[in-house]
Amino acid sequence: ETANEKHGFQTEAKQLLQLMIHSLYSNKEIFLRELISNASDAADKLRFEALSNDSLYENDPNLRIRISFDADAGTLTIDDNGIGMTRDEAMANLGTIARSGTSEFIKNLSGDQQKDSQLIGQFGVGFYSAFIVADKVDVFTRKAGAAAADGVHWSSTGEADFDIATLEKAERGTRIVLTLKEEGKEFADNFRLRSIIKKYSDHIAIPVEMEKLHYGEEEKPETPEYEAVNDATALWARSRQEVSDEEYQTFYKHISNDFQDPASWSHNRVEGKLEYTSLLFVPKKAPFDLYHREASRGLKLYVQRTFIMDDAEQFLPLYLRFIKGVVDSNDLSLNVSREILQQDPAVDSMKNALTKRSLDMLSKLANKQPEVYQEIWNEFGSVLKEGPAEDANNKEKIAKLLRFATTQSETSVQDQSLENYVSRMKAGQKDIYFVCAENFNTAKHSPHLEVFRRKGIEVLLLTDRVDEWFIAHLNEFDGKSFKDVAKGSLDLGELEDESDKKAAEEASETNKALLERVQAILADEVEAVRATTRLVESPACLVVAEDEMGLQMRKLMEAAGQ
Ligand code: ADP
Ligand code: MG
Repeated sequence: ETANEKHGFQTEAKQLLQLMIHSLYSNKEIFLRELISNASDAADKLRFEALSNDSLYENDPNLRIRISFDADAGTLTIDDNGIGMTRDEAMANLGTIARSGTSEFIKNLSGDQQKDSQLIGQFGVGFYSAFIVADKVDVFTRKAGAAAADGVHWSSTGEADFDIATLEKAERGTRIVLTLKEEGKEFADNFRLRSIIKKYSDHIAIPVEMEKLHYGEEEKPETPEYEAVNDATALWARSRQEVSDEEYQTFYKHISNDFQDPASWSHNRVEGKLEYTSLLFVPKKAPFDLYHREASRGLKLYVQRTFIMDDAEQFLPLYLRFIKGVVDSNDLSLNVSREILQQDPAVDSMKNALTKRSLDMLSKLANKQPEVYQEIWNEFGSVLKEGPAEDANNKEKIAKLLRFATTQSETSVQDQSLENYVSRMKAGQKDIYFVCAENFNTAKHSPHLEVFRRKGIEVLLLTDRVDEWFIAHLNEFDGKSFKDVAKGSLDLGELEDESDKKAAEEASETNKALLERVQAILADEVEAVRATTRLVESPACLVVAEDEMGLQMRKLMEAAGQ
């Protein structure tokens, strides 16, 4: 080894290491899942790069991950022949956590060990989990295509710093040697390791191997023989009948970094003009970064089983960005790039089909498991509301998925569908009424509602920033238009009693002088002052002209600087 250098961990990395070691103590085995997952990513990356540069395989095309241990020495080794790392990459990827996820991760720690351990995958800080079981981690790595002399040895005891040195490494890829702590020695055990690999890594698409077991008299061969412990077939390529619910759930956790089971999934093979397989999942919980602009979204794209890219966003619309899954195409070229995806008409028709499939999955949940769907709505409802504006073709389907708080239930829970509303409409009612406000209480106590309460007409209570905007795009449901109760003179049409009309006329007449005076005083503030029967308890209320932007929309525009 040459050129040994010492480097300090970034402050956050240090903090993270300590947290990791202490908070994940009761769920130690996940370190193996994380390291195998990294090795599998490294294999995917190599396969992808090798598409345009075959020589990267260096005459060793059979990608695999090997796990071995030495109980006497107390070490555990994870060895892959994937892409490997250069010295700079090892420094950047293993030493400094420049990723924004880290401080976010620390903020999100709950103190609940089970929950915290699950956060680790989600925030992409998996490598450090090695320190849960090891008091020293040695990484030997060499980038595919680099000279043997350009190998790298990274080493750390998980305290303040790490060492990095250059070393000779003939085989490409990464070997990670864990020197187990006393409490980690339980993992230097054949049976234990095999069962963890089965549990977490069955669906990993390349073999995760361990040395073959030799029993009794059998002579151990000189060069060790390896066998695959996991299934190593791409799960989505199997037929639905062959895959158990548990396998789908584990697979979902692998691709999403979520720790909960998905709410539902849909696995389909499409044949005909286009051939592809898709496996889509509806998560139960939103990731922490659902509303971040740079948040990852989209599907994992494979072409004929070869991994092409994560976050292929061309296959689903934005308002379905919470859907996770895999799409494997037989038609796209292996050299496909994001730019090409954007222009390919085949991708468009796949996107249409996958959008329908996702919406169907959601409607099925809404119909068959309304309690589960309610949770999904609570998590993703405001994202779905982007749907009518983005995807006019599927407006109707989306409209059926919407849930609202209304004057019917009087609670802030958004649990009423438009179909529910329509079924309760009064005889002669033509429109769907809504009120927009900053928050639920203001909406609920809006003076505009008084006449509706009196007449027993239901009103949607809208309190999301985007509500007025999305209702404008929705435009109608089931042939009924949406009416803002705070707008215009409020023509209740057939719902209006003759006596109401008369009362209004009389009130205008008797209060003529008063109305004129108020109008004169408020001349700069309002356009007109009218007597109304829409109020029961309040003395006065403000309304917006029919053709003007509603109050909420105005605020939205103002906030956007317009
Ligand atoms: P994530 O996998 O979410 O990126 P990790 O902490 O698990 O986060 O890994 C950090 C980075 O270290 C990876 O993104 C990758 O660049 C690099 N890395 C880790 N393990 C390997 C490996 N076996 N081969 C190549 N690169 C690796
Ligand atoms: Mg990882």
